[in-house]
Amino acid sequence: MLPRIPRWAATAVAVVLVALVAATAGTGAGPDTARAAPPPATAEAGVLGLGARGPTVRALQRELRSRGFRVAVDGVYGAGTRSAVARFQRRLGLRINGLVDRPLLWWLGLSVCDLPGPTTARGAADGRLRLGAYGPQVCTLQRQLVRAGADGGYGPQTRAAVRRAQRRHGLRPTGVADARLRARLRARPVARPQAGALLSVGAEGPQVRRLQLALRREGFGLSSDGAFGPQTRRALVRYQRREGLPASGTADVALLRRLSATRARHLVAFPVPGPHAFSNDFGAPRHQGRHQGIDILAARGAPVVAVAGGVIDSMSRADTGLGGIRLWLRDDAGTRFYYAHLARIAPGLAVGSRVRAGQVLGAVGRTGDARGGVFHLHFELHPDGGPAINPYPELFDLDTGGL
Ligand SMILES: [Zn+2]
Repeated sequence: MLPRIPRWAATAVAVVLVALVAATAGTGAGPDTARAAPPPATAEAGVLGLGARGPTVRALQRELRSRGFRVAVDGVYGAGTRSAVARFQRRLGLRINGLVDRPLLWWLGLSVCDLPGPTTARGAADGRLRLGAYGPQVCTLQRQLVRAGADGGYGPQTRAAVRRAQRRHGLRPTGVADARLRARLRARPVARPQAGALLSVGAEGPQVRRLQLALRREGFGLSSDGAFGPQTRRALVRYQRREGLPASGTADVALLRRLSATRARHLVAFPVPGPHAFSNDFGAPRHQGRHQGIDILAARGAPVVAVAGGVIDSMSRADTGLGGIRLWLRDDAGTRFYYAHLARIAPGLAVGSRVRAGQVLGAVGRTGDARGGVFHLHFELHPDGGPAINPYPELFDLDTGGL
């Protein structure tokens, strides 16, 4: 997932979420949310549901329409919206409840903290927030604690931050955010370090958001809330280590330039032009080993297109397990692209056929070892015909029109 921030959030939040549409990424991933798997649905997972109204609902409806669901954009969460949400959940293989719940937000690359308007999520009635709590009250608490990385989920990291805050305020470190702690936090928010030319913990604003989006494009799961907190710092340190840079956890002009530099482009078209969802699941553990591609979820039969001009290198119209109905495309530079789990390959294509970028190659299915699972395209990128590299940054860029 998504990683990707949907258009409706971008519109509704009315901030510069750029053309970004959401998964890793997505935001979605807050301090306590692993990007590897969607969070489980819980009893209090309902965030938006029947009866809700306002700009958030309107934005959701626009997002649903952009994904091919017929729904009126009237800002009222009625039966039509509920039914469209249920169909969306079915498409994604989620539990179907007609609510914009935590797993659905995760697939959109969002958390409850990204919703601009009031929601129907329940908070703790007694004013106590503890491990397992989820909702806008947790967002508020997280922002008071760390001023960044709020995802609305009260996990172990939030609990640790609560304990630190309790010690700082001379309270017993229970790890439960009770009324006393919350009153103290409201009265005396954590002091923010100054932000200078370097971006570091405490900085806020559009430049931080661009940094977060760039880190997400690099495959790190974090929210893009424009507030530089511990979560952003962790992602930055991981990026710096990966690139062999000093792991300072701060970003200077050179680093920002490096992050936004143009990279080698292998793809010129997104492989699934219609409605879809994906997150950075490259390298995720799978039963045959590490996942060598990105899974792009889409409706059964959705068209799959050539990501570059080239030649069909090999193909199988028969479902012989593993990748099922599959093909390899090779561009003129020798880069190879693998498409698996197709429902069918377009008629007329054969090994040696020349195709142009954007040409329909087949349709999304769930053949091979995806049988019985979610309809999706398994997509791999092999520069120079060598080992697979993570296509997520390029997919992300194509999907969002760049940053
Ligand atoms: Zn896959």
